[in-house]
Amino acid sequence: MEVFDHPDAMAAWSDTQRSLGRRIGFVPTMGALHEGHLALMGIAHQHADVVVASIFVNPLQFDRRDDFDRYPRPIDGDLHACRDVGVAAVYAPTAAAMYPPGFQTHVEPGSLADPLEGAGRPGHFRGVTTVVSKLLNAVRPHVAVFGQKDYQQLAVVRQMVRDLDMAVTIIGAPTVREGDGLALSSRNQRLTATQRSAAVCVPHGLDAAVAAYRTGERSAEALMASARSIIDAEPLARLEYLAIVDADTLDTVDMIERPARLVTAVWFGEVRLIDNMALDAPAP
Ligand code: AMP
Repeated sequence: MEVFDHPDAMAAWSDTQRSLGRRIGFVPTMGALHEGHLALMGIAHQHADVVVASIFVNPLQFDRRDDFDRYPRPIDGDLHACRDVGVAAVYAPTAAAMYPPGFQTHVEPGSLADPLEGAGRPGHFRGVTTVVSKLLNAVRPHVAVFGQKDYQQLAVVRQMVRDLDMAVTIIGAPTVREGDGLALSSRNQRLTATQRSAAVCVPHGLDAAVAAYRTGERSAEALMASARSIIDAEPLARLEYLAIVDADTLDTVDMIERPARLVTAVWFGEVRLIDNMALDAPAP
């Protein structure tokens, strides 16, 4: 497995792969890899001959310095995990290679980036679109796989690729969960044991709304009430937002008449977790 820390070296490798007729699949990550990331790499393998993973904790997309500083960076374990799942090359650029002195150009997302995560984390998606553009330019993949776990991020990236005519296919991958339903996240490591137990209220709350939806409830207010009652009942949980949005536009909806998404951000102490589930099954 190759490891590159500079965009020029990464791009040279990718150009060689392309000249050999190989399709490149790409999974961008911030490291601290878990089964969710590895599942994305498996999906990339289904669509490509060689898979590249990137590991870069992008300072531009963090709105809180402490979150950036405390983000786990177990690089050795991450490289092993990549090798184990057959990744051909890891792109782990240094911050200096990504943002050298004099760096000044950013990719500005549109209104899809305004609500939800964008409202709570100013500048977050501008950091995401900028870094994803840079990563795509270095890795030059045919397909790139993103998790539905970060549902708004997936939507913002798809929109950017469409708007800027980027020659890459974006694939959305389902969320991988722990046995009790908690979505895998690098931030779960920072939960105390009691916070970890409490955090199960997030998937349980979302599940309750999905269950009500499946029995025919279509009022967003009623569905959100069923999720909120479970999350609010957990004393360690502090709900930042809970919303039902159109699956494509991310506009809030009152009555669900087309595919929608139930999305939430919940704090446990200093740790902020996000999750979402689909509300799109046909009426019973
Ligand atoms: P991150 O390292 O958190 O930036 O995530 C890198 C990629 O992995 C993003 O596309 C995430 O949406 C995806 N991802 C993170 N957690 C999960 C999960 N539990 N299941 C599936 N994909 C995930």
